[in-house]
Amino acid sequence: MGRRSAGAGGCGLLPGARRVERGEAPAAERAGPAPSQALTKTWRLPTVEWLALTPRVAVLKGPVNCGVVVGQAGQALVVDSGMGSRSGRQIAEMLAERGLRPAAVLNTHAHGDHTGGNAYLVREAGARLYAPEHEATWVRSPEWGMVFLFGGAEPVAGMTTRRLLPEGAPVHAVVCEGTLRLAGVRVEALHLPGHTRGHMGYLVEGVLFLGDALASEAELASGLPYTYSVSLKLQTLERLESVRAEWYVPGHGEPRREIAPLLQANREAIEGTCAAIQALLAGGPMSEEEVVARVFRGMGAPLHRLGEFSMARATVLSHLSYLHGLDLVAYEVQDGRVLWRLTAGPKG
Ligand SMILES: [Zn+2]
Repeated sequence: MGRRSAGAGGCGLLPGARRVERGEAPAAERAGPAPSQALTKTWRLPTVEWLALTPRVAVLKGPVNCGVVVGQAGQALVVDSGMGSRSGRQIAEMLAERGLRPAAVLNTHAHGDHTGGNAYLVREAGARLYAPEHEATWVRSPEWGMVFLFGGAEPVAGMTTRRLLPEGAPVHAVVCEGTLRLAGVRVEALHLPGHTRGHMGYLVEGVLFLGDALASEAELASGLPYTYSVSLKLQTLERLESVRAEWYVPGHGEPRREIAPLLQANREAIEGTCAAIQALLAGGPMSEEEVVARVFRGMGAPLHRLGEFSMARATVLSHLSYLHGLDLVAYEVQDGRVLWRLTAGPKG
């Protein structure tokens, strides 16, 4: 899985960024584009509950779970920042009510429902922003995520949603696997890829903030959660079997003491999707779009919006790529279409 220690020298720092061990704040970098008018019109703040797990660690529990760790001298670390700039203000206000200020925001990954409050917390509350290697560019310039989802081209108008396109924010330091010390708090950064390439989990005082490394039961029940790499996710599931914590906090859903059932549910979802794709291809070669449509229809989750379809397509492709790596499926380009088919089985 390519684990490295923070400060080991291999962590590709962005221009202007500093390694996480250093205390000096660099000059602010160029922020990404401001959200469009359409994204700022209507937005109701979700109800967020302050749920104390330990004397110094709490979860801001809402549709997206954020974390708070109380450090020295009234400083707090914030893990993920919710959806939309108003989430950033909401977090800052909840901290202020308790005599705290956000000293640092640690993102688990670049998705907009976890980074929406970054810009507010950096610009208005003076927090420093820490983003995982491989995610930092998108945290700073979220439009790249849209380009990625739209197949490498400029996305069409109307595809964007607040969840997909938050306001960009300057990244002060890139986080690699290893130990950080922030505001007097020791934080273990664990590389947990699969949902995204650079996804990190943060283990603080016995509480493991998982971000979207694991899909919640509700996400698994409502369709197929976005996955960048099935093989990396399977490695992460295996790794998490041996990571001990008092609390496990997924990015969506309930904090919990036991992680094994959720690991098993995530594993079964991957196995089920692979089996569904193989069953479809048993009927003969099929185009990518047809595989996507049939897999999601089969789950009772038909796709109606372009953003949904783009994430679904990427997720199905991640499963096809995994099966291709096992020599269980193959592809060919025929008459301008990519057709997938079953192979006779793994070679050798
Ligand atoms: Zn995500």
